[in-house]
Amino acid sequence: MENESNIKINLTQNPDSNKKHRLLCASCRRKTNHTTQQSLRRGWETDDSHIAGYDDFLIVKCDGCETVQFCQISSCSEYYYSAENPQTGEMETYYSEKIDQYPAVNTSYEKPSTFHSMPSEIKDACAETYSALCGDLPKLGAAGTRLIIETLCLVNNIGNGNLKQKINALAKKGVITGSMRTMLHKVRLFGNDKLHTTATPKKVDLEQAWSAVCNLLRSVYGTKDTTAYFKAFSQDKVKPKADK
Ligand SMILES: [Zn+2]
Repeated sequence: MENESNIKINLTQNPDSNKKHRLLCASCRRKTNHTTQQSLRRGWETDDSHIAGYDDFLIVKCDGCETVQFCQISSCSEYYYSAENPQTGEMETYYSEKIDQYPAVNTSYEKPSTFHSMPSEIKDACAETYSALCGDLPKLGAAGTRLIIETLCLVNNIGNGNLKQKINALAKKGVITGSMRTMLHKVRLFGNDKLHTTATPKKVDLEQAWSAVCNLLRSVYGTKDTTAYFKAFSQDKVKPKADK
């Protein structure tokens, strides 16, 4: 790469701003067409004009579910390759693009549900762990799965002992079921092992641990939300929605 001081930069409205992009949608959890809402282009070239490129900064909206996200698309005159044009059959030069999405979208990990009854400490731990996993930070993701269990113990006033004892106390208090306790002990060992060694956790193990944590939160707070709803319903505080 050229020295920064030899590069001329100019910022303009993106000339391709009407172009649709196939991007991963965090809500649809697959690639969908996205329409550009706003876009700026940072064009650059070397002083001798031998190498040029651009970075497009876009705000895009999914055509399916209307989720809005940010995206950066970069290319450069060095990223070229030759391929046959499917319409004309002629060999042509194409330029490959590097696409980064913000926040990072990674459909390998289940998107955690949030519940009314979920304390903010759990919501924060969950959001940070999910970001670490989706952002390809496996060690932080592994530590986060353990942190969520620690936080669940803390908000249930279980603060004494090691994590093994705390998980047993959660089951004893009736916060989690016996089968959930067995599962959490496996996640506990997983988080423990991976944080205290230099090995990077395997993706398949992380996916399983994260899935277990999502099941745990659904089972604890989903049940609480449903119980609260029917309690309010029986006291006439909420009305069921009319059938269409
Ligand atoms: Zn979507």
